[in-house]
Amino acid sequence: MKQSFDAKVKSETELKALQLEGLKWTVNHVYEGSQHYKKKFDEAGVKPRDIKTLDDIRRLPFTTSKDLQEGYPFPLQSVPFENIIRIHASSGTTGKRKVLCYTAKDVDDWANMFARCYEYAGCTVEDRIQIAVGYGVWTAGWGFQNGCERFGAMSIPVGPGNLEMQLQFLEDFQTTAMCCTASMGLLMAEEIDRVGLRDKIALKKMIFGSERSSDAMRRRISDLSGVPMEELYDIPGMTELYGPGTGLDCRYHTGIHYWADYFILEILNPETLESVSPGEEGEMVVTTLMKEAAPLIRYRTRDITRLIPGECQCGSVMPRHDRLLGRSDDMFIFRAVNIYPSHIDEIISKSEGVGSEYQIHLFRKESGKDHMLIKVERAKDLIKDREQDKHLRKDIEHAIKKQIMVSCDVEVLDYGELPRSERKTKRVFDTRG
Ligand code: ZN
Repeated sequence: MKQSFDAKVKSETELKALQLEGLKWTVNHVYEGSQHYKKKFDEAGVKPRDIKTLDDIRRLPFTTSKDLQEGYPFPLQSVPFENIIRIHASSGTTGKRKVLCYTAKDVDDWANMFARCYEYAGCTVEDRIQIAVGYGVWTAGWGFQNGCERFGAMSIPVGPGNLEMQLQFLEDFQTTAMCCTASMGLLMAEEIDRVGLRDKIALKKMIFGSERSSDAMRRRISDLSGVPMEELYDIPGMTELYGPGTGLDCRYHTGIHYWADYFILEILNPETLESVSPGEEGEMVVTTLMKEAAPLIRYRTRDITRLIPGECQCGSVMPRHDRLLGRSDDMFIFRAVNIYPSHIDEIISKSEGVGSEYQIHLFRKESGKDHMLIKVERAKDLIKDREQDKHLRKDIEHAIKKQIMVSCDVEVLDYGELPRSERKTKRVFDTRG
């Protein structure tokens, strides 16, 4: 019989019972095992025995990246060193690196979670999985690798880069699934197309980690590589929460199923820290249910998304969240509306005739009224035309009014006029003071 890595729970009721059990175990475990957590619980005036229902999670204090920094190099450690078998670290773009400890069980649980990702992506043990992400102190390579071995497919651990070797392996080993970043997937698709490799390879799926792929990007990867759009998957993940493999968008691509039997996901208003209404956007806050070495209690991820209500066509009981819409740090308030640059991004990327670059300028006029000006670029192949620019402008202004319910002005610039950067580009300019 085929082994399944799917959740053992069969209904929401069973899932909630399992979550409550895991939550109770976790609060006891950290209270006993971590001075840091114990102090935080005591300061918040909460004892493990106070957690009687899932709603009681609200009584627990939040954990933030500051806790990780303060506890460096072994933050949130809740087991003795002799039980720790591995550490992983994030690449650490701001401040110190995030370092997390793992017990043997943590590593084992993570492999099971990741094996489930391969299962949800429709892989079988016959698959040959080429893994082109970083191996090292980062979680990426280990996650994909251990998950693949646990799942039972053949792994080809190539690591990132080395396009020539990747392509050769695709052909020689008849790789069926490729794991890489979406940018790498695009590079590979372009090469497959350029050297005319499509008929010589057996590639059927691509699984993207660490950065989300936009629809436009997926379409292009599919067109060039011949891999169908529905067989391109996104795997989210963060080092704090094991690493990649804590969820996957199934083949219906209606959002990311996340493994709610391993962690609780709350979506909170980042300002008030209260729960948002179902389906509304907010910050992802996670609490682990069986993590031993470095458990997370209401860890504020700063990532913004929303829960997707209802059931997925695939029939999974695992709930779904939307793709990540941005970071809570990027949010700005304009005329009492909370806006994420990703909202504007989405509208602009759906508009015909404009490029993907944009800037948002917020300023206060002498009248005291706040204004928003959005600068966009005319698409590369469009010739400058006043009437046409006016239409482009009005289209975007209407779309923003309709979808975000605020008024703004749009200015259309020549293609290439806005600055580009390979790193994170500054897009919001707020001079309101
Ligand atoms: Zn599904």
